[in-house]
Amino acid sequence: MKLANQLQGIAPSATLGITSYANEMRASGIDIVDLAAGEPDFESPYQAKHDAIQAIEEGFTKYTNTSGIIPLKATIAEKLIYENNLKYVNDEIIVSCGAKHSLFNLMQVLLNPGDEVLIPSPYWLTYPDQVRLHGGVPVFIPTNEQTGFKMTATQLTQFITPRTKALIINSPSNPTGAVYDQTTLEAIADFAITHDLLVISDEIYEHFLYDGRTHCSIASLGPKIKARTIVINGISKTFAMTGWRIGYAAGPKPIISAMVTIQSQSTSNPSSIAQKAAIGALREGRDFYTRMVKEFSERRAMGHAQLTAIPRVSCLEPEGAFYLFPNISELIGTRLANKSMTSASQIATYLLHEAHVAIVPGNPFGSPSHLRVSYATSREKVKGGLERVHLALQKLQTVAS
Ligand SMILES: *Cc1c(COP(=O)(O)O)cnc(C)c1O
Repeated sequence: MKLANQLQGIAPSATLGITSYANEMRASGIDIVDLAAGEPDFESPYQAKHDAIQAIEEGFTKYTNTSGIIPLKATIAEKLIYENNLKYVNDEIIVSCGAKHSLFNLMQVLLNPGDEVLIPSPYWLTYPDQVRLHGGVPVFIPTNEQTGFKMTATQLTQFITPRTKALIINSPSNPTGAVYDQTTLEAIADFAITHDLLVISDEIYEHFLYDGRTHCSIASLGPKIKARTIVINGISKTFAMTGWRIGYAAGPKPIISAMVTIQSQSTSNPSSIAQKAAIGALREGRDFYTRMVKEFSERRAMGHAQLTAIPRVSCLEPEGAFYLFPNISELIGTRLANKSMTSASQIATYLLHEAHVAIVPGNPFGSPSHLRVSYATSREKVKGGLERVHLALQKLQTVAS
């Protein structure tokens, strides 16, 4: 049977792939350290669990409004005011089945075939595939360690064409940990206004910040930029609630109501029970994530020290999110016995087999010379896993040419 053309060139999520491969190895009795996971290892907040159980017991188990129940949208609106200095009314907010689903709805309503979307690279691997799934063309803005993995407004000029429709910002970034400061965002906002671009601001890691950094939402930089920005956020990362599937988007009413139309013909409302849980989580707020981020900060420092102690590996200290993004370009071209390491993918496979550590290679994020090491797991696992990585990488031999 011939499947739809839009599937061409689309791959299943590689982060989920390596985790399931690692799980298979673990099931066969191998002691695998998982540094691939893209989710916090914390329990979901007590209040969220409590409110979900109560929702079930009280029979709150039917369809809700497509765009989310009013008390949840009101709680999100309050959060956006207090935490992000952003004012949105009820019909400028849509709750979806995860932030990934919010993004998907957004691509549905924005893109016509051939429309271009600017994506800073390395990128979260879902962005380009979602753009392609809707006939759009991802246009990558290269960044590297020299600029702290951040794009600049000046750089963007090179990539703009009459087909450029939107620009994606993901600060703090998965996979690089880059955090944009207000001045850089102001310049990018001016650029978006001048070139009539929509800005998609994925702020899912907003609270995972280190060394006293603060989060700035580009939408908060004035009415002009707010009018062309769609803020994407959710409870998955902040409240360790990945499995509950609640995310949301806030933005101009015409875009949000188009997203509601799409959602009404696909998933309908997100789970009524999870929506109640989300209210509980958002009310618990800061008390929950402050404790988690403090722990992550310790792991980050430890993991960074370990990675930079490995010969031929360098690693910028990430400013946010929960990943380290070591540069392993000096290991590309090395070999062990008769096996040559030609990209990060091969090194990640080697590490899984040799060190029994699961790490996602940079390839699907647009960088074949980096690895993405998640520290959303216990200190013991980060420490033990990176010790094994150190030993395994030291075995790789440089080939005399
Ligand atoms: C995890 C993640 C998301 C979305 O997660 P959901 O569970 O779908 O809410 C969005 N953007 C980035 C960059 C992520 O890493």
